[in-house]
Amino acid sequence: MNKLLELRAITKRFGGLTAVNEVSFDVAQGEILSVIGPNGAGKSTLFQLISSFLSTSSGEVLLNGERINNLSPHVVARKGVVRTFQETTVFRSMTVKENIVAAHHLRSKASLFGFFLGTAAAREDEKSFGKSADSIIEFLDMGSIRDELASNLPQGHLRALGMAIGLATDPLVLLLDEPFAGMNHDETMKMVNLVKRLRDERNVTVLLVEHDMPAVMKISDRVVVINFGQKIAEGSPSEIQNNPKVIEAYLGSEDAAIGM
Ligand code: ADP
Ligand code: MG
Repeated sequence: MNKLLELRAITKRFGGLTAVNEVSFDVAQGEILSVIGPNGAGKSTLFQLISSFLSTSSGEVLLNGERINNLSPHVVARKGVVRTFQETTVFRSMTVKENIVAAHHLRSKASLFGFFLGTAAAREDEKSFGKSADSIIEFLDMGSIRDELASNLPQGHLRALGMAIGLATDPLVLLLDEPFAGMNHDETMKMVNLVKRLRDERNVTVLLVEHDMPAVMKISDRVVVINFGQKIAEGSPSEIQNNPKVIEAYLGSEDAAIGM
């Protein structure tokens, strides 16, 4: 397996609570891997550790062999590990396209200073960012809302914009925390296909946390199960569904049973 991302015994303590406890697993280039587990298991914390939104108490996260934990989120994003669906990254007074163009600056060759001075490199960037934004808009089928102000968008479109902003940074790895939350069946299936196309057509490796088990089983190459901060299982969707430890973890939890 070509390891793109490696988690080595990563641990996060909040005071006396160990939210993530020595979790280790690898993610291969081009894989779609889901992290599942009951509420409060530590899934979102795990994603925040991978994206450096939180610092680890111990352990390491490696990207292509290079340590990326305990940096700052924008440094990790620049290296290609990007979390999406954060509405805070949306400029509400800008249009959809303007937001996507702005997001490209994270990877810009010209400095922001050059941008304001109108240097040749900055002008070159503006042109290519516009083209790239148009291709992302087409990819996500957002043409009809290209010129809408972000502040006017309903929740579903805001989520699509979050995805577009993530893509604008040209990520190696996208971290999606509950991308299907609040979606009906048709919307979920559309999003499942979109995530698969991200991998197939844009070569993006995807890590997701999700509660929607049928969607997880459909989308995932591999599944990692977390309970009380610890990894309790790892395998293909069918291995996970038949794993007694996993079934036990889900029984008696607030979450729906893992069954289809
Ligand atoms: P999940 O996403 O699997 O539902 P979380 O990662 O959000 O779980 O939370 C794991 C545990 O860590 C929970 O017990 C939660 O209350 C606790 N926790 C999460 N974030 C913090 C924080 N910033 N400070 C203290 N405790 C936290
Ligand atoms: Mg969570």
